Amino acid sequence: MNEETRLTHAGSEPRPLVRTVGPPIQKGSTVLLPSAASLYDDDAFLTYGRQGLATHEALCEALGELEGAGGVTLYPSGVAALSGAMLAVLKAGDAVRVADTAYRPTRRFCDKVLKRFGVEVDYYDPRLAPQAVFDGAPANLRLVVLESPGSLSMEMQDIPAITQAARARGVLTLADNTWAAGLLFKPLAHGVDISVQALTKYVGGHSDVFMGSAAASDPKIARQLADGINHLGWAVSGEEAYLMLRGLRTLPVRLARHGENALSLATWLHGRAEVGQVLHPALPGAPGHALWSRDFTGACGLFSFTLAGASAAAADAFLDALQVFGLGFSWGGFESLAIVCDPQFACRRHAYDYGGPMIRLHVGLESPQDLIADLERGFAASGQDPK
Ligand SMILES: *Cc1c(COP(=O)(O)O)cnc(C)c1O
Repeated sequence: MNEETRLTHAGSEPRPLVRTVGPPIQKGSTVLLPSAASLYDDDAFLTYGRQGLATHEALCEALGELEGAGGVTLYPSGVAALSGAMLAVLKAGDAVRVADTAYRPTRRFCDKVLKRFGVEVDYYDPRLAPQAVFDGAPANLRLVVLESPGSLSMEMQDIPAITQAARARGVLTLADNTWAAGLLFKPLAHGVDISVQALTKYVGGHSDVFMGSAAASDPKIARQLADGINHLGWAVSGEEAYLMLRGLRTLPVRLARHGENALSLATWLHGRAEVGQVLHPALPGAPGHALWSRDFTGACGLFSFTLAGASAAAADAFLDALQVFGLGFSWGGFESLAIVCDPQFACRRHAYDYGGPMIRLHVGLESPQDLIADLERGFAASGQDPK
């Protein structure tokens, strides 16, 4: 053959892969099929790379193990997992009820996109009793979107009671389980139909990769999720799937340390006179502790606290004095982060007075002593009188 042809095809038949401890990073849009008949045989053959190759399959299998799921679908971010899963099961004329303390971009998607396509959206107060979630529910209610603990303010919900009530009404449930990272709480085992998490957070673990997953045990729902992503045409890269699988290997050890460090900071904060509430469900006496003890096997590094009666300027001064904690969104990486929460409360329907500005901490893998010294700098700068 001529050189053009030889160069076009040389090296395309490597010897069978040797085994390494991780999967190969397989890249490819075109999949070469063995026969003309197999080109259109989607049931027996994977016919296109967008459906996911070896690395994606390995990650989905491992996430299936984590979630106790029959099917797991990957998305290019956590928000994409939430929006993609909702689009997969909703249609015009359906209604969705969302926890008022859900992650803010979740409600942005509901308000800006779902409503435009004829889906009704309303928000329930997560502090209500489980049955009250369905109070005044429209007959076309199709999906309840749960998040427990709630974003920023950490309200715990009785997920088993809510999912039981939802099933009795033929309503689906979806839980954003990013806080528990698929490990500390098992949504599918507690009756949730679709378990979503932002793998960007603890599974990735290094604040450098975006990805999300949705898992289901019901084969029909798992199929809807897989078809949904195929229809939308979203795909994740093999390299990033590889990084997520690498993160997953050390998830339990990292989370255990994040959880331990966060609880020691929460305990220390609880003893500070400047602090109103410590919103950490694993802290004895904190709101939601009983539900957390019943349903969760551990806690991660994310919690919040309030500066009793302080001004917004005092909270900003607190943050600006921090040297070890970085100021930034997202969480789940190895490093400690802090934000002030209050500007995100304006969109909530069920306003609540927390008694002072709220600061959310993500406690990383640094030494807790150094982190406590950093918080002391914050208190000194906030100019509050310890009462
Ligand atoms: C960060 C986050 C997401 C979104 O994940 P991205 O990958 O950043 O899109 C979803 N839910 C919760 C609770 C989150 O904290």
